[in-house]
Amino acid sequence: MKNTNTQTNKGGRKVKPTSSAADGLRELFVDELKDIVYAERALLKALPKMAKNASEPKLIAAIEDHIAVTEGQVQRLEQIFEILGESNRGKKCDAMEGLIKEGESIIEETEIGPVRDAGIISASQKIEHYEIASYGTLAAFANTLGETEIVSLLEATLAEEKEADAILTESAYNSINFEAAEEDQE
Ligand code: FE
Ligand code: FE
Ligand code: FE
Ligand code: ZN
Repeated sequence: MKNTNTQTNKGGRKVKPTSSAADGLRELFVDELKDIVYAERALLKALPKMAKNASEPKLIAAIEDHIAVTEGQVQRLEQIFEILGESNRGKKCDAMEGLIKEGESIIEETEIGPVRDAGIISASQKIEHYEIASYGTLAAFANTLGETEIVSLLEATLAEEKEADAILTESAYNSINFEAAEEDQE
C-alpha cells in the first residue's frame, strides 16, 4: 500500500486517507489479500534463482518443494477471491519486493557454497516470517468477519509457511551454519 503522504510524516502527523481508503474491516481484509497474492506471485518468480544458487542438496530440495507449495497457495488465494466475489488481481507488496531484493543482494555478496547457503536461508526466513505474519492476521480478520471457509483456507497456508520456516531453521542449525563457519578458518 503505497502512500506518498507518509513521506512527510516525520513529525508524526495524522495521514490523510486516499480516496480509495478502506472504511471497514472487510475492505481492509480484501486489500491485504491483494497484497499477499501479489507477494506470493512475486515469490514464485524469485524462488528458482534461490534454488539455482544453493549448493546443499537438502536446501535445494526444500526450496524446490516450496515452489510447488507456493503454487498451491496462490490457487487457495484465488479460491478465496472467488468466495468473496472479488477480482484476484494483486496490489504491489512493497515488503515482498524489498525482501526479494535483499535476497538478491545477499546472493551477490556471498561466495558459492555453505556461506551463500547460509545467506539464502537467512533471506528465506525473513520472507517466511513476513508470510506467517500476513496469514496470521488474515486468518484473524476472516474469523472476525465470520468467513469460516476462508479461515480454514488461510490456516492451511499458514501451517505450510510455518513448516517451511522450521525446515530452514533445521538445515541451518544442523549443518549449513557450521559449514559456513568452517570457511572462516580458510
Ligand atoms: Fe507463501
Ligand atoms: Fe505486503
Ligand atoms: Fe533488512
Ligand atoms: Zn512461503
